[in-house]
Amino acid sequence: MLKDSDRIYQNLYGQQDWRLAGALARGDWNGTADIIARGRDALVEEMKASGMRGRGGAGFPTGMKWSFMPKQSDGRPSYVVINADESEPGTCKDRDIIRNEPHKLIEGALIASFAMGAHKAFIYIRGEYYNEAQRLQFAIDEAYQAGLLGKNAANSGWDFDLVLQRGAGAYICGEESAMLESLEGKKGMPRMKPPFPAAMGLYGCPTTVNNVETIAGVATIMRRGGAWFAGLGRPKNAGTKIFCISGHVNNPCNVEEELGVPLKDLIEKHAGGVRGGWDNLQAIIPGGASMPILNKAMADVQLMDFDSLAAVKSGMGSGAIIVMDKSVDVVKAIWRLSKFFKHESCGQCTPCREGTGWMMRQMDRIVQNKATLADIHLLEQVTTQVAGHTICAFGEASSWPIQGLMRAFRPTVEARATDYQPPQTVAQAAE
Ligand code: NAD
Ligand code: SF4
Repeated sequence: MLKDSDRIYQNLYGQQDWRLAGALARGDWNGTADIIARGRDALVEEMKASGMRGRGGAGFPTGMKWSFMPKQSDGRPSYVVINADESEPGTCKDRDIIRNEPHKLIEGALIASFAMGAHKAFIYIRGEYYNEAQRLQFAIDEAYQAGLLGKNAANSGWDFDLVLQRGAGAYICGEESAMLESLEGKKGMPRMKPPFPAAMGLYGCPTTVNNVETIAGVATIMRRGGAWFAGLGRPKNAGTKIFCISGHVNNPCNVEEELGVPLKDLIEKHAGGVRGGWDNLQAIIPGGASMPILNKAMADVQLMDFDSLAAVKSGMGSGAIIVMDKSVDVVKAIWRLSKFFKHESCGQCTPCREGTGWMMRQMDRIVQNKATLADIHLLEQVTTQVAGHTICAFGEASSWPIQGLMRAFRPTVEARATDYQPPQTVAQAAE
């Protein structure tokens, strides 16, 4: 188990004061100006040394992403955008950072923005997080009043403004380029990449989009050193991560743990175990709705980090672990996700717009025992025509749950077919 002294989040459960006084007592804003005095290059190198990979879901190396920002301005301002549009079903970690550790995010925003040459950053928060937006705005206001934001922020010599922007409830606005469109006041529809945001982002200017959890870890990494963070977790999967454990467990919770922790340990030691015991486990979605489902045999041995989950064709995604016991109809559960993805498609590319509806209707027929084996196999084929053929990763997100279901639960799915023949026993075959 992660030692308390290695936790980034000392107030994840909100037992202490979340306001500035409480944050200062926990060591936030301690020596911020000294960190900034190290200079931009040193901070980018420290982030690279930490091995931090983006905590929103894709796991792109953070230091490398920062290094894509221009060193010299060509007349355009640089921006940092912090993705708080946390919408992946099962995910509620950024919510608790904002509720209980908002100053970690604000201090991280200042340091990260300085490292990338940005005098302005935006936090784009999902519309449904109304109370969290109020609290975060309160914390931003008190940071301004204390001189930690604004001109000569935190006495660092760097002028820095932080703006909170509320979204309006569209899942796709969490995709970084759709978020930039939305911030510009347009419909939140993803852009083609490249160009990546560092070359042409918000208002056509160099921009980096980072997740809340990534930015909230920045100040601690800079204070304790990249080597400290890199020493936690596993090679290429460094540091700690907040996992969100929900579903059929006795104690659903968010918990910060080292990457590479066994999935079983997370559930047994932190979430009170599976309802009815580990043997009552049927399935786990390990990384939010878009990540392929695992069956019990897979879950028994699974480590929780980017590469270990990629090796079984799933993913750690946002770190949202959804546990299903044997009472669940897994086919219906994945049908419900396909309904979600059909609803949230922005509709601008044909494979996604048409494919998500088609996949949902086909899943509906399987659930209702109206599909043939050929229909099921056609559905599998269609998922491969959607994934990889769209403007944004939503194409994969909508296809992977069905592909995962087929990998982990093929016999269960095929047993729903109208023309399903149970396999013969040796004795039956001999008759
Ligand atoms: P992505 O792999 O396309 O990009 C990840 C990041 O790396 C982006 O910032 C992108 O600009 C950058 N990047 C990638 N390749 C680059 C290159 N060659 N040069 C420069 N920059 C590059 O993935 P994505 O679409 O940003 O994210 C998909 C993930 O989002 C999914 O894995 C899912 O888990 C996650 N997700 C999370 C939530 C949530 O609520 N946290 C919601 C939906 C999806
Ligand atoms: Fe929109 Fe879907 Fe295309 Fe993404 S893949 S741009 S969500 S239609």
